[in-house]
Amino acid sequence: MNVPDFSFESRPMRVVFRPGASTAAPAEEAARLGLRRLLVVSGRQSSVTARAVADSLGSLCAGLHAEARMHVPAEVADLAVEVARAAGADGCVAVGGGSAIGLGKAIALRTHLPLIAVPSTYSGSEMTSVWGVTEHGIKRTGRNPAVLPRSVVYDPELTLTLPVALSMTSGINAVAHAAEALYAPDTSPLVALMAEEGVRAMTSALPLVAADPEAMGPRSRALYGAWLCGSCLGATTMGLHHKLCHVLGGTFGLPHAETHTVVLPHALAYNAPAVHEAIAVLNRALRTDNAPHALWDLAGRLGAPRSLAQLGLTDDDLTVAAGQTAAEAYPNPRTVTMGGALEVLRAAYAGQSPRIEALT
Ligand code: NAD
Repeated sequence: MNVPDFSFESRPMRVVFRPGASTAAPAEEAARLGLRRLLVVSGRQSSVTARAVADSLGSLCAGLHAEARMHVPAEVADLAVEVARAAGADGCVAVGGGSAIGLGKAIALRTHLPLIAVPSTYSGSEMTSVWGVTEHGIKRTGRNPAVLPRSVVYDPELTLTLPVALSMTSGINAVAHAAEALYAPDTSPLVALMAEEGVRAMTSALPLVAADPEAMGPRSRALYGAWLCGSCLGATTMGLHHKLCHVLGGTFGLPHAETHTVVLPHALAYNAPAVHEAIAVLNRALRTDNAPHALWDLAGRLGAPRSLAQLGLTDDDLTVAAGQTAAEAYPNPRTVTMGGALEVLRAAYAGQSPRIEALT
């Protein structure tokens, strides 16, 4: 094999992965980082878990703020920054999914307080320096090294309570990061290794999680896959699939993980003719000769949604979403025209099996 030209940046982050770590490792990580007053942030639904983390910090805990909301509304970020300042916090611990970690990042962006992340879904935000804040219905995102968690504590026990439906869609959300990383302009051999292993781990674990949500082995494997897929997301720039999901979530309010699950097979089928090597890697990981179809089939077997209509999108929304997607510049291996974006959206709307067409 020829080694492609590449650049790869190692990020200053420590990862701790072990069952039960969420109530021991945050204090250990705080000590390593020299932090003494930590504000714990979470969403309301994760407040019991976050309380356990806060209690485990003992005198290092400067408070618990359980007000995180999806897509980090600006007023929620403003309040959290105020709370962190008023508490005299010298660091934050974010406990929960991408929404809670997003709030921790919003605090870090404005205050530069170091962040420790304790993820409880597979969305991967903990591995990236990408932040997002939503104001007047528009989500602004950016990259800033200040928001990259300094430590990430993965505790598979935390995911035991993640409902099966969300476990499945969150898991496929993770697979989407690895899939697009394989054809990103800044991909690299290490990213390809992480992506292949991440997809293999996640997709082999999900049916077992669905069959027995409280079995630790599959839960650990899924979270391990999420770490690898999140690492791919953090190391590369995403393309058409993530852009489509950003538009569908931002403009039409569609749910994050479910939207990724529905769109992925179709975005991948659109790009497939232009990315043979990436598809070959995915085929290997999925043990198939048609990765887009295998992912569509997997979603069906896991009882996950497969059509945008099921998520509440209307036929009239498709043209608007396609226009927004085609209008913006982002790297994608195939040019994305209005017609191309509409083709992907129509297939995802109908929930039909993805079709790979030869490039003309
Ligand atoms: P989420 O954080 O919104 O969580 C979804 C729901 O699941 C919430 O109600 C939450 O309370 C609940 N939940 C989370 N963990 C649970 C558990 N273990 N048991 C029971 N319930 C649990 O969803 P998400 O998909 O993790 O994150 C989506 C958000 O993260 C979006 O806003 C997305 O844009 C953002 N995100 C950002 C990045 C990034 O790099 N910046 C990456 C991925 C996602």
